[in-house]
Amino acid sequence: MALAPHAIEIMIKIRQHFIFVLPVVLLLANAFTWYVVWSETPKGILTVAFLDVGQGDAIYIEAPNGNQVLVDGGSGRQILRALGAVMPFYDHSLDVVIATHSDADHIGGLPFVLDRFNVGAVLEPGVGSETNIYQEFEKRANDGTRLHELARRGMRLRLDNNVALDILFPDQDPTGWETNTASIVARLVYGESSFLLTGDSPIKIEKYLITLDGEKLQSDVLKAGHHGSRTSSAPEYTAIVKPEYAIISVGKNNRYGHPHQEVLDLFAKLGATIFRTDASGTIVFKSDGATLTHN
Ligand SMILES: [Zn+2]
Repeated sequence: MALAPHAIEIMIKIRQHFIFVLPVVLLLANAFTWYVVWSETPKGILTVAFLDVGQGDAIYIEAPNGNQVLVDGGSGRQILRALGAVMPFYDHSLDVVIATHSDADHIGGLPFVLDRFNVGAVLEPGVGSETNIYQEFEKRANDGTRLHELARRGMRLRLDNNVALDILFPDQDPTGWETNTASIVARLVYGESSFLLTGDSPIKIEKYLITLDGEKLQSDVLKAGHHGSRTSSAPEYTAIVKPEYAIISVGKNNRYGHPHQEVLDLFAKLGATIFRTDASGTIVFKSDGATLTHN
């Protein structure tokens, strides 16, 4: 489904805690484009850290120019320590926080983050929840100190000259949907390196993404959907993504039995290296745009 036939270009100067919102009407474009402040850094290192927050997701992204994005915040205050391990102690700002969906193991830590950090913009899919934790999150997201937007396919967060975070899903208004189904799916690209971040997106959405993007889903690193549950990671989807690394963000001895053995077998069969946060702790990838390395 197409968005409104106009684009809004939003320039965020977070570093100076100053925000420009510049509406631009384009004749043919039907997408949102987001530009997060950039500086001229011809070559540098992109960091993507899959944070160990127990059972839940939290992914920290830092572009070569220093722009920072947090995708999900785990289930509680342990996010603060996890961030402290990958961010300088004096750094109390994040440019963008993305809540992939409203389940507690993804947004439970975000109220702590929004209280502690200057956050320039919050993105979410737009499917709420009656839970206290969602209300706490919304209260802070709506406090008027930051942009609060719905993520929609076609949005691009340009984090640096050559670093883009593209929103692939939702491509329509998911109001009334089950929360996992509405998960934001985003693909981060820096030169030759790519990461596919999927929240708890279920198999039916994975199959739908194949119809939308096909081979363009191919990514070096796949954050396996829903903590390695069998309700995600369809064989036809993982075969198209063809990840070199599969990340499973999961708590030790979690009560859901995640990850499921058939998902581990599937990635092994694909020849992907599997990293689990319950076994390896925080997993940090670095890329110079050509070579991908990990800790
Ligand atoms: Zn989850």
